Amino acid sequence: MSEATRIDGKAFAANLRADIGRKVAALKQRHGLTPGLSVVLVGEDPASEVYVRNKGKATREAGMKSDTYAMAANASHAEVMAQVEALNRDTSVHGILVQLPLPDQIDADAIINAIDPDKDVDGFHTLNVGRLNSGLDAMAPCTPVGCMIMLKEVVGDLTGKRAIVVGRSNIVGKPMAALLLKEHCTVTIAHSRTRDLAGECRRADIVIAAVGRARMVKGDWIKPGATVIDVGINRIEDATTKSGTRLVGDVDYDAAAKVAGAITPVPGGVGPMTIACLLKNTVTAACRQAGVPEPE
Ligand code: NAP
Repeated sequence: MSEATRIDGKAFAANLRADIGRKVAALKQRHGLTPGLSVVLVGEDPASEVYVRNKGKATREAGMKSDTYAMAANASHAEVMAQVEALNRDTSVHGILVQLPLPDQIDADAIINAIDPDKDVDGFHTLNVGRLNSGLDAMAPCTPVGCMIMLKEVVGDLTGKRAIVVGRSNIVGKPMAALLLKEHCTVTIAHSRTRDLAGECRRADIVIAAVGRARMVKGDWIKPGATVIDVGINRIEDATTKSGTRLVGDVDYDAAAKVAGAITPVPGGVGPMTIACLLKNTVTAACRQAGVPEPE
């Protein structure tokens, strides 16, 4: 059997970002509207700092307004809440993202639910979660949105496809399942207590792996010709690299690529699409708040 098509997330993301750049330029020209995204970062977690820096850079490159509010690791719950409330009131801010995880003294759920749902570009507010799961128009989380864009492009009509989502987190697994259901897939959600995970995966036309365990999904778990989307980001030791480590996904790529029809690599698959979809959600939010149509 021939090797699976490699789904190039970087290329998808570059196209989407160029498209967003055009929309932002049109909004400025037609309506004097500059979409704005503000990120709240609490503490100095190095991974979070890198994510926030990359989000800011991508936002500016798309021609949008970008602000980062860096708060001390010992900032109080009230201080973070006050920052979110100030951003809710600021009409030049259309998207608010609070970088997770938050330090222990802060009630993350309360902070997320304090964000104006119209500005909740991460799609984590309970109202947006409820709307998504009710099949209504909702601000949906960026990583699953990015997976769906690639899936629709690669598979086409998803109606009636058997899809399995391995992982049931609120950030990836559950919203992913809701989006697949919206596209009329027959959806299975698997997790750490699932029996015969290999057998469940083998029945699926679409496998979404969002587990956080390096190369857990094996090649012989994949149905021939299936489409595999690997959300996982795991750092493993590798003495052949300069740093002594490298990133791998939740799927055993080399083995799965021999069986699948199409598969995303790690890195270069889902990751680049996540930030592009954050920009996409911010443009949508800005248009809704300004009451103007989203440019084509
Ligand atoms: P998470 O909150 O830790 O959830 C992991 C899920 O995997 C849980 O539902 C867990 O089941 C399930 N699981 C764990 N071990 C399992 C096993 N042996 N068999 C079956 N299911 C198992 O993780 P997450 O936030 O969803 O992230 C998942 C992965 O995606 C991570 O590698 C993360 O770094 C990556 N990620 C990537 C992006 C991106 O932009 N590319 C964005 C977000 C996350 P239980 O619920 O039963 O515990």
